[in-house]
Amino acid sequence: MGMVDVKAKILEKNYSKAAVLRDKFKNTCVLNFVSSPGSGKTSILEKVLVMFKDKYKLAVVEGDQQTTNDADRIEATGVTAYQVNTGRACHLEATDVEKAMAELGYDLDLLIIENVGNLVCPSQFDLGEDAKVIVLSTTEGDDKPIKYPVMFRVGSSFIINKTDLLPYVEFDVDKCIGYAKGVNPELEVFQASCKTGEGLEEIAAYIEGMIAKKKNA
Ligand code: MG
Ligand code: ZN
Repeated sequence: MGMVDVKAKILEKNYSKAAVLRDKFKNTCVLNFVSSPGSGKTSILEKVLVMFKDKYKLAVVEGDQQTTNDADRIEATGVTAYQVNTGRACHLEATDVEKAMAELGYDLDLLIIENVGNLVCPSQFDLGEDAKVIVLSTTEGDDKPIKYPVMFRVGSSFIINKTDLLPYVEFDVDKCIGYAKGVNPELEVFQASCKTGEGLEEIAAYIEGMIAKKKNA
């Protein structure tokens, strides 16, 4: 079997496993957060999920190659988190989520999956989610959407994070949004800062809208 065949087989197997998961997530809104390392996914989740914890049944699956640091941070807010260590793998697969769900149970309104920091292969692995939420920080360069168009094509929403740093970095917000919309006109765009609180209410409202949409589907 050539490399291309091996990859196709892995993706095919993942796809059927994700379909089984999606079936089990009938009443659970599932959001898959993707980004480069250090974009602030965990920080956004810490700030937003704390608004939900008394209102919804929710849990977080944290993916990292090593450590339980992010799961520990989420648990510190009072939200249940399950850490998956992927070892050498640079993305989560449906089978990782399946294992996490065996611990967390499917009786949830909201499941957040924080993927391994990587804008490339997580775009190819369906985890049974309703939407991929892309996070990009202002320290990363405004041309990321055209450098990693595959991810931006499969994403549903796009958060530009760390707007508090805009006075200090070369990052053109309008240009970045233009690039992102050029790749995927349907993207819902947010601007956020965990330091100033900008945009966090809007992100929370977006997530609540997604929960309601899933319930009424
Ligand atoms: Mg993180
Ligand atoms: Zn990978």
